[in-house]
Amino acid sequence: METHLADFIRHTTAGREAEEILRRCVHCGFCTATCPTYQLLGDELDGPRGRIYLIKQVLEGAEPTEKTRLHLDRCLTCRSCESTCPSGVHYSRLLDIGREIVEHKVPRSGSDAMMRGALKTLLPRPNLFGAAMKLGQSVRLMLPGALRAKVPPLSSAGPEPGRTHARKVIALAGCVQPSMYPNINGATRRVLDKLGIEMIEARGAGCCGAVRMHLNEAEGARDDARRNIDAWWPLLEAGAEHVVITASGCGTQVVDYAHLLQEDPDYATKSARVVLATRDVSEVILAEAEALKALLAACPPLPESERPLAFHSPCSLQHGLKIRGTVEALLVAAGYSLTLVADSHLCCGSAGTYSVLQPEISQRLQANKLHALTAGRPAAIASANVGCIGHLGSVAEIPVRHWIELIDARLAA
Ligand code: SF4
Ligand code: SF4
Repeated sequence: METHLADFIRHTTAGREAEEILRRCVHCGFCTATCPTYQLLGDELDGPRGRIYLIKQVLEGAEPTEKTRLHLDRCLTCRSCESTCPSGVHYSRLLDIGREIVEHKVPRSGSDAMMRGALKTLLPRPNLFGAAMKLGQSVRLMLPGALRAKVPPLSSAGPEPGRTHARKVIALAGCVQPSMYPNINGATRRVLDKLGIEMIEARGAGCCGAVRMHLNEAEGARDDARRNIDAWWPLLEAGAEHVVITASGCGTQVVDYAHLLQEDPDYATKSARVVLATRDVSEVILAEAEALKALLAACPPLPESERPLAFHSPCSLQHGLKIRGTVEALLVAAGYSLTLVADSHLCCGSAGTYSVLQPEISQRLQANKLHALTAGRPAAIASANVGCIGHLGSVAEIPVRHWIELIDARLAA
């Protein structure tokens, strides 16, 4: 796509990157067919090719409007279009660049600005969010339905292994997961312990930065990245093998740290090393597959009624991290029989803060996804990202769990 960037961006790093991305796009529109918002809304401007045009116009000097911002807001950043694109267009990067410019040129007001401000303040602060979640959980049954759906029942992390190992990995504790679903990292710790690996947490680490990035605040996301690198660095230097991530949405953010901090002389090298050390938990467990199989072989077989399982692969896992088939193989090894799920490439509508900011589209995607997931009559649904688990779990009539919790339960049987 031929582009003539305006002076304000032409000679910047973002401008050069945007130009390179735009040049790759050949307008074929293949991506449109797999875009969830285009499928629902039927408007070219609510699909990737239309959004690329909108961003191109802004980068060439056109003044964006509230309508421009709306079409960009409606994008889930699910990256299904990237998986489909035959030209390798890095759409999500272009979207980040375009959204940040539009955010400055078309400021928000009223309830939209207030809601975004509240999300930016509350979500990335684990202590503040944890206190609010605890309060919500204590009065959960009295909350109105829409709010109750965002508050899972109180749960615990389960027993600590209480052993140390020479092999260590660093956990990303994250921001909302510890207070909403503490058992996810608890289960990971126990499974890794049985495989001879100790999972430790770094003091001072926190939100991966995805929340602020989703809300078009790249500088805040960079601050989150720097704080985490500072917290993880001494442990990596002391021999920790990996930074292990149990929420694939956070994983896509952490593997972007080197790009985010490429112009920061103090963090460019460190961030590249952190990215090299970062693994989704499924990759770490897969590397220990033989040991896991030996442990599973000593467990009683899974009851027939619990075997049918639907796996929802989050967009961040399949399109962002490009991990496909790994979790599925581990679940089959654990005795589960995976049901067929139609349109498994499509987003469930959770998408970070999207379910709060675009509730109507989000709920339509949620209903479609649940219909697809339950068509094979599974006993439960498994997923790999806290956002999807909460979003689907709030309305599903069968349990929705992180897959590592299922492996943990199998090993404890
Ligand atoms: S990221 Fe998802 S919602 Fe956004 S344009 Fe691509 S496919 Fe559509
Ligand atoms: S599939 Fe790729 S090249 Fe084709 S229109 Fe979409 S982004 Fe452009």
